[in-house]
Amino acid sequence: MGRRLSGKKIAKNIYANIKEAIELNKITPKLVVLLIGNDPAAEYYVQNLEKKGSKIGIEVETRILDKLIDQDSLLKNIDALNNDSQVNAIMLQKPLPSHLNESEIVMKIDPNKDVDAFHPLNMGNLVLDKKGFIPATPAAVLELLSFYEINTNGKHIVIVGRSDIVGKPLANLLLRKSDTGNATVTVCHSKTKDLVFHTKQADILIAAIGKPLFIKADMISENTIIIDVGINQIEDANKGYRYVGDVDYEACFEKVSAITPVPGGIGTITTVMLLNNVLLTYKMQNKN
Ligand code: NDP
Repeated sequence: MGRRLSGKKIAKNIYANIKEAIELNKITPKLVVLLIGNDPAAEYYVQNLEKKGSKIGIEVETRILDKLIDQDSLLKNIDALNNDSQVNAIMLQKPLPSHLNESEIVMKIDPNKDVDAFHPLNMGNLVLDKKGFIPATPAAVLELLSFYEINTNGKHIVIVGRSDIVGKPLANLLLRKSDTGNATVTVCHSKTKDLVFHTKQADILIAAIGKPLFIKADMISENTIIIDVGINQIEDANKGYRYVGDVDYEACFEKVSAITPVPGGIGTITTVMLLNNVLLTYKMQNKN
């Protein structure tokens, strides 16, 4: 039977650490979130971020921009935030409307304010194992591995998903010569042949696919550790809808040695890691 790897205690500890550092230094780091258009799910997410931030002394301001905003106007908005010394961190809520050139916009954000760590400079630092920001979700996975003392050294970690936000940075972090690294990493995606062959090889399987309950019990070997990054909304007869991961938790629980729940797993830690990155941006800009 599997062990349930809850993220709640981990998140609570990190919130407490951030709050303590902020109180001790009497600072108020500030994050500005740019939301383009009125997407209820995105608004819900940032409202939650605002609430969580205010509890620990981080100001989160949301600016809603017209969904028809053109590229130049958006770049000007980012420029203004880059030059505003009161703003420590900038986050662009995704996905962006299709008429906007995402890579040009990401390049425009000051790398020292790039709380999502999407700028090529931050991504490059991550790949080269240099000091810098780590995107919140991969950082949450590392915190979980560390908290539960899951040894990655020499382990075969199979990641399903190669997105810029999860799979790619995570693969690089797990390859690092570090306590939460030194793994042998396989990254799978939609063009991978015989996916089950790979998932069955995993000592640790990380699912970041975006497909509800995609990983079934017959796709994994006994005693695998599963980390489920997926968050998917599905219909629910009683509540209207509910959230599930990319892994069929109920079916896999008996077979694995440990598994993260959804909700209450990686997602719970991700929000606090993002706020932790806001604190890091502040520190980076106020070194002396
Ligand atoms: P993307 O859609 O950007 O990437 C999904 C990846 O899964 C792609 O690499 C895709 O392959 C791969 N994939 C899709 N279908 C298959 C398949 N049938 N077999 C193998 N691989 C497949 O998603 P994200 O990385 O942004 O998010 C993944 C999940 O994680 C989502 O559920 C999202 O909601 C959740 N998420 C959770 C966060 C958290 O904090 N817990 C934060 C961010 C995301 P290909 O590249 O070939 O298309």
